[in-house]
Amino acid sequence: PCTEFDKAYFNSYAHVGIHEEMIKDHVRTNTYRDAIFHHQSLIEGKVVVDVGCGTGILSIFCAQAGAKRVYAVDASDIAVQANEVVKANNLSDKVIVLHGRVEDVEIDEEVDVIISEWMGYMLLYESMLGSVITARDRWLKHGGLILPSNATLYMAPVTHPDRYRESIEFWRNVYGIDMSAMLPLAKQCAFEEPSVETISGENVLTWPHVVKHVDCYTITIDELESVTTTYKFRSMMRAPFHGFAFWFDVEFGGPAASLINPRVPILPTVPSNNSPMDGSQRKKRTNPNEALVLSTAPEDPPTHWQQTLIYFYDPIDVEQDQLIEGSATLTQSKENRRFMNINLRYSSGGRAFVKESVMR
Ligand code: SAH
Repeated sequence: PCTEFDKAYFNSYAHVGIHEEMIKDHVRTNTYRDAIFHHQSLIEGKVVVDVGCGTGILSIFCAQAGAKRVYAVDASDIAVQANEVVKANNLSDKVIVLHGRVEDVEIDEEVDVIISEWMGYMLLYESMLGSVITARDRWLKHGGLILPSNATLYMAPVTHPDRYRESIEFWRNVYGIDMSAMLPLAKQCAFEEPSVETISGENVLTWPHVVKHVDCYTITIDELESVTTTYKFRSMMRAPFHGFAFWFDVEFGGPAASLINPRVPILPTVPSNNSPMDGSQRKKRTNPNEALVLSTAPEDPPTHWQQTLIYFYDPIDVEQDQLIEGSATLTQSKENRRFMNINLRYSSGGRAFVKESVMR
């Protein structure tokens, strides 16, 4: 059922600003366009569904790549504009805009391709991937193509002295006045909830840990309700440890090999947990399809997703090689499944902590 929360969610996509921000994110939009043309031979003459078409941009790229028909589905009122854009570009015979939820609209044929830009902050915020899964299970042909094909969420411990100085240390001396009494409130306001901001590779203390790998061909809705991972890092330097950063990448690989030919195993495209992975290795990473990657990592060109930071209220001083271990659990909030509860457990140097936060 479409809840009040879903209505508010779809309303937020009826404003121009959010679409402008996404479209102006050239890393995002160009990678999608490149991926569509990279897979042109699988799109030409085929039927596509665009899950959450927004302004219709990805649907139009697919039409330009030669799709026979594109169902552009969006529950937000932005679908009205998408339809006008399609008309103005003389594509009404190819792109069919359906104003409704993918869970509710009817499409009377199987589709060859699903395209969707469903990723939220920390990958899973917004919980839109479930709608892509629904579209897959309702309409995708056996052996069909899903773009993107898989996604990986990473986490790593970070140091960010500048941020701590600006938001916290600042209160120690304000125009010569000791305003340290502000510290508890300042820490609470700055660090209670996850914050979306851009950090650089230099803020990261270790190689990242894989929190969750998502194969869009096989993932189920149930698996996304709650994601738990345990991690073990060794700080590569001596530094104040301020919290954890989360980021993701998505790959635009071909159709699942196992679906086309059951004897061909799907090669892992992501190294197993805890293996070092920096930018250079990522670029060298290959798979049978030479998949394109859209990365939101700190060392890669910035995107509108930036990185998501979960700060501690107080830094922990770590030595080089000091062990940092614990677990992270990301759960769809019971109150509103678009929100995400984050439970972080961490211990280092003999001290243990728990931090609970909510991304709303
Ligand atoms: N594809 C566009 C917009 C991406 S934003 C682009 O790349 O620019 C995601 C869009 O998905 C929003 O417009 C939102 O309204 C829509 N959406 C999210 N869940 C949906 C669902 N279950 N059914 C239909 N549309 C959905």
